[in-house]
This record gives sequence, C-alpha cells and structure tokens, in this order.
Amino acid sequence: SAATATPAPLDASKIQINPSKNLKPLQENSKLVFGKTFSDNMLIVEWEAGKGWGTPQISEYGKIHLEPSAVVFHYSFECFEGMKAYKDKQGRIRLFRPDMNMKRFSRSAQRIALPGFEQEELIKCIEQLLKVDERWIPNERGYSLYLRPTMIGTQESLGVGASNKAMIFVIASPVGPYFPTGFAAVNLLATTERVRAWPGGTGDAKVGGNYAPCIKPQLDANKQGFQQNLWLFGEDHQVTEVGTMNCFMFWTNEQGEKELVTPELDGQILPGVTRDSILTLARQWGEFKVTERRFTMHDVAKASKEGRIHEMFGAGTACIVCPIKNINYDGQDLKIPLDPSDTTSQAGPLTKRLNNAILDIQYGEVEGPAGWSV
Ligand code: PMP
Repeated sequence: SAATATPAPLDASKIQINPSKNLKPLQENSKLVFGKTFSDNMLIVEWEAGKGWGTPQISEYGKIHLEPSAVVFHYSFECFEGMKAYKDKQGRIRLFRPDMNMKRFSRSAQRIALPGFEQEELIKCIEQLLKVDERWIPNERGYSLYLRPTMIGTQESLGVGASNKAMIFVIASPVGPYFPTGFAAVNLLATTERVRAWPGGTGDAKVGGNYAPCIKPQLDANKQGFQQNLWLFGEDHQVTEVGTMNCFMFWTNEQGEKELVTPELDGQILPGVTRDSILTLARQWGEFKVTERRFTMHDVAKASKEGRIHEMFGAGTACIVCPIKNINYDGQDLKIPLDPSDTTSQAGPLTKRLNNAILDIQYGEVEGPAGWSV
C-alpha cells in the first residue's frame, strides 16, 4: 500500500518534456538587465510526504497556481539557489560546481523542514532544461544563463507545521557581466543597528526569509549614499558579509604576514561557492597566507590607519568579485586601496586576478580543479 511503500526518489530518467511552442524573441546581450528576462521553459518537480518526488516536468515558463492558504505565503517556506550556465568557445554548455549549489540547496530546504532530494538527479533535470532552452545561453564571455532553482512549501494550511507538499521549480534568465565597463568599487555602510544573521539562526542557509528583512537597511544605506551594507555581528563588530556577498580582506596582518582572510563558516555565514573557489585557488597559488577566521571592525580600522589593507572585496555568483573602495564605520570613512595605475577599472590586482582565474575556468579556457566546470 502507499502507506508502506518507500517514498519515490527524485528520478531524472522519468522527465517529461513538453517545450513551449511560443518561442520568445531573444534580447540583445547589451540590453540585458539582471533577472528581468526569462527563457521559454521551466522545470517543475513536486513532492508529497509519504509518496516522495513526482515526475519532473519541463514546460512553458508561466504562472504557477497555488491556493492563498499555501504555507509559502504565510511562513516563508522558501529556499533558493543562484548558479549560471555558460557557453564555451566550442559551443558546449557548462555549469560551474553545480554539486555545491545542489548540496547547499538540499541543506537550505531541510533547515526549513522541506525535503532533501537526489542532488545528481536534479542536476540531470537542469541539464535537460538547458538543452531545451539552449538558445537562451549567451555565447559571449561574461554573459551567461542565470539559473534560479527554488523550493517552496505548498500545503494548503494555516497550521504552523511542516509542509506535507513541496515544489521545486527552476527558471532561467540570461544575464550580462555585473561590471560591463570595468569594475566599479562600492562604498559600504558598516551597519550596527541591524544584523543579518545570528547564532543558531539561518544565516548559513539560502532561505528567502533572510533576504526581505535586509532590504530596508539597504535602502537606508542607499539614502545616505552607500551602495551596500557591511553586515556586522556582536559587540565587537565582527565583519560577516557584504550585501549578499561573502567578504574578503587582503592585508598585512598584525604579525606582518600577507594574508587573505574571510570570516569562518560559523553558522552565520552563507557558504558561498565563489568563496570556496577563491580560497581553493589562493591556497593552490601558495603565495600568501589564506585564512578563514573571525575579524572585527577594530582590526579593519587599525589596519586601515596603519596602511596595512591592500584590497577588500565581496564575492558571489552574480559579480564573482566586487571591489570595496570605502567603509563608513562609526561616522568615519575608511578608504580601501584600489589599483591607482588602472584608470578604467576600480579594483586591486588580486581582485582582478581572482576574477579572471574564475572566469577562465567557468568558460572552459583553463581546466581548473576536477569537477569545477562540467
Ligand atoms: N552571501 C549571501 C547572503 C548570498 O546570498 C550569496 C549569493 N548566493 C553569497 C553570499 C555568495 O554565494 P555564491 O558565491 O554561492 O553565489
């Protein structure tokens, strides 16, 4: 009986593909605005407690019908991923470390009592979507098809409890480079009135509930002339993340050593795929110390005064790296160095080098570590 049968795993071999017959006109690459244009099709897989995963379906991109009582609308049963598909010079479709996105997606889902799933199977389903929507993957370096895997709880109930129904959907949006005309460094407000994440919270999961509460502080920062919040935590003002990016500082530490430092994964930091890639590459280069540990605004301010900061940047899928030029902390501007000899691009040498190293791997121009570009 259904009650005793083991729940069905997510199985890519069962996929049903009914591609859209209303193909939309492609946008010119130069006119793309992040996250505004969507491809012709989407992938949907539904889950039910006891039964498991249903048939993966690829069909025309369009509205999803849910009852207003669905738990996603009430208690934020939502988590998501951000990853990209690239076209290499040979015209082949590539993904960058999709296994890491799937691992994080499954962990995020389980943090909000949504189901885990067979991660390799979902990658296979996404590959099918990419084949159907291949014409949407731009074939120019810096351009890509952004993928947004999302999971929502769909049970129709106002009871506060685990959702007995869930849906994964994956939509795709062609995107251009974050900095089309060279890096533009950001001016940050070190935010002390609000916190993004806290011990025991959900800062290390990519759940929708982490994002909406950060928009008002971002608007407040914008009003004061800053592009992003530098998120801090604790009375000692530990540096955590910058906007929706992981934070890196390249400096000469108190011991006089050159060091690339980023906050450790203490449960409050999102484990970024870009973060991990930067740490791995920099450790392979072996040219300076690479450390994951806590550092505070006191460390940053002191190093800034003593001229020991070389570069700071945010890291994430959308931009790869985003240089930081200034941090306003406690009413004082801490200027962060860029490359003064570069008049076209506001970024330090290490920031630019990491950006190029990752782009080269993403576009298949350099092999990179095993399993990174697939
Ligand atoms: N921190 C937060 C809060 C984010 O939303 C993101 C974007 N996913 C990142 C960091 C960077 O992660 P990734 O390198 O995997 O894009």
